[in-house]
Amino acid sequence: MSAALVVPVGFFMRPLEETHEGFFRSLRRTSVTDRRRARAVAHVAHDVASAAATAGRFPLLDVPNIPVTDLDVPIEDIEAIAQRVRNLWDMPRGPIDDVVQLLEAHGVVVTRLPLDSADVDAFSLPFPDHPVVVLGSDKADRARSRFDGSHELGHLVMHGEQIWGMKEVETQAHQFAAAFLMPANEIHDQLPTSVDWPALFDLKKSGRCLWRRY
Ligand SMILES: [Zn+2]
Repeated sequence: MSAALVVPVGFFMRPLEETHEGFFRSLRRTSVTDRRRARAVAHVAHDVASAAATAGRFPLLDVPNIPVTDLDVPIEDIEAIAQRVRNLWDMPRGPIDDVVQLLEAHGVVVTRLPLDSADVDAFSLPFPDHPVVVLGSDKADRARSRFDGSHELGHLVMHGEQIWGMKEVETQAHQFAAAFLMPANEIHDQLPTSVDWPALFDLKKSGRCLWRRY
């Protein structure tokens, strides 16, 4: 196998570090085989990052742990957590230039995989030293990936090893992502006062200057 896969024999001797099953958004619709395959690749990504970190070539983990254990947390509380992460990470107001770069700068491994399954768009495994976020590459939708990356960050910040796989938990991660990418108090004054799709579309397009690549 070592020769066929062109990896050192030692690769197969590495101890397997366990985490929980991972934050899969639609647990019931994701087949066990798909999940196992995706998790295996995430494990490899984690091992590569750990080795790089040992050699001082990958940042140490710096993801705040702000646990949410209640399934009925008001959205304002979730938004406050997203704001806290922005503050702790010393992020400037406005759009985030590069979500993947931001996560990696704080020690989270981000990798892209053709997940080959309409039901898995992204997931994360909360390894204690370097959590891994896997983004699907098959949809080729940058805005979606930015949101997915932020959603997984929400899990890592709020849910860690605790609760997962429930609809409410997914909603919390969505709320986190929305507030993390676009804090309400920063976008509020730029939004039209009624549902005006052309105006919203222009806002998204002109995001190059205001809300670039949100
Ligand atoms: Zn999720």
